[in-house]
Amino acid sequence: MHRHFNMPKTTTIAGRSSTITNAFFAAIIPSFSPTEAEVDQALEVLGMKEKLTCSYCGDTKTEWDHLHALIRDCKPTGFITEIANLVPACGKCNQSKGNTFWKDWIRSSAKKSPTSRNIPDIEARIARLEDYGSWRKPRKIDFREMMGLDLWKDHKRNLDRVLELLKESQTLANQLKPVAKSSIAV
Ligand SMILES: [Zn+2]
Repeated sequence: MHRHFNMPKTTTIAGRSSTITNAFFAAIIPSFSPTEAEVDQALEVLGMKEKLTCSYCGDTKTEWDHLHALIRDCKPTGFITEIANLVPACGKCNQSKGNTFWKDWIRSSAKKSPTSRNIPDIEARIARLEDYGSWRKPRKIDFREMMGLDLWKDHKRNLDRVLELLKESQTLANQLKPVAKSSIAV
């Protein structure tokens, strides 16, 4: 392939499975908007009353990131969207961290992790985030209890149907693609 060329990315139908699974769980995970006083307290614990920065690396804050992922390995972790589980972050860190456990990720050599970017004071940052966890323990949904509910079973059955249909559709698409290709005049 020419060094100045790369094919545009294509998507597959089956490749959407984890996105859809995540959407099914995200759709039922509760979220609580914090009060102004709660945000003030949060920033005080994080030492950011004067200036908002990324809690992980100190760069400009662009978003509030879930400290504990809501979904991991296509399963809900039980954590929810609430101030105790949200910290100011930058997009770089948020993307690099993904669904991994924050403390392991900070110290890891994952691409664009604070350690791999040689951010100073990593241990101090970890200590701050641990203080944050003790300020307010993040709450968790008991999903084992939820799994006993008929509504949950219906929701899960719908998800399984959608995933099955994605698979079927991919198989059909795989058969159609060569037909489409052969219809193009050479
Ligand atoms: Zn960052």
